[in-house]
Amino acid sequence: MQIAFIGLGNMGGPMAANLVKAGHRVHVFDLVAENMQQLAKLGAIAASSAAVAAQDAEVVITMLPAGKHVRGLYLGEHGLEQVLDEGTLVIDSSTIDAESARVVAQGLAKRRIDFVDAPVSGGVAGAAAGTLTFIVGGRPEQFMRAKPVLEAMGKNIFHAGDHGAGQVAKICNNMLLAVLMTGTSEALQLGMAHGLDPKVLSEIMLQSSGCNWTLQKYNPCPGVMDNVPSSKGYQGGFMVDLMRKDLGLAMDTAQQSHSATPMGALAQSLYAVHSQQGHGQQDFSSIFNLLGKTKRDK
Ligand code: NAD
Repeated sequence: MQIAFIGLGNMGGPMAANLVKAGHRVHVFDLVAENMQQLAKLGAIAASSAAVAAQDAEVVITMLPAGKHVRGLYLGEHGLEQVLDEGTLVIDSSTIDAESARVVAQGLAKRRIDFVDAPVSGGVAGAAAGTLTFIVGGRPEQFMRAKPVLEAMGKNIFHAGDHGAGQVAKICNNMLLAVLMTGTSEALQLGMAHGLDPKVLSEIMLQSSGCNWTLQKYNPCPGVMDNVPSSKGYQGGFMVDLMRKDLGLAMDTAQQSHSATPMGALAQSLYAVHSQQGHGQQDFSSIFNLLGKTKRDK
């Protein structure tokens, strides 16, 4: 298949590389030339603009920072909607607000261009290993068109519902993850403040009703698990500032539907404080340190 891939950052770079490996003809574009050169070394074709990359593409995939970038790229006088052929399939895997996804879907539909929102879970490691989870929003036939392409980059491909539903499901999951991570950190810190060994406490909670994904796969206390960010100085993994972005999207989405999300709102505030204290580039499990005892308390 001829595929255009636009946005070759931490996630898009390895995702595009997996499409090349799967045998697709991949035309790539990024504002940063070096990102394109990396992909060209693997067999992708570097383009001089997004429009050039997208010319004659059967599928266009984007992995961009935010909704404004996605809207700006596809819609308007200078948007890709002007150059894409009828029947092209557009897959946007960026994490953006659901409203932007719906607006882009509607704009492209007017030109008979298919669109799905397909945000991912699994992070940079999942992108490199080709094991991402894709959470897709779009019509059933559009989902079926996108599925085989996504399978070259991911392991689990879910159809969440119509346009925008992929984005809503993704931010619901990440809001829950933030709540679980802060709650787990709080419980571990409380136990430790009373002299408990965090390994023993983790094992007890794992076998009890407090068991959750963060205890199973991503313990936030250094030294409890090997090969997780907390045991590597909170480097790698999923950055605090990206979690803040997703919590911001969750709060915007909650406001649109007048939904009550007090736990998500509290997690958002805690992550904002943590970032302001200079930890924005650390893994999100470092929220554990924000909830620890201060020197004055000791
Ligand atoms: P990144 O900043 O590393 O990459 C974004 C890339 O887009 C950059 O290389 C930038 O130059 C390029 N870009 C921006 N505007 C462009 C334009 N108009 N045309 C062409 N290229 C453009 O970000 P990332 O970590 O790869 O994340 C991308 C998306 O994936 C975000 O929406 C993020 O929320 C989401 N996401 C990230 C992770 C993660 O762990 N990094 C996990 C899941 C989802």
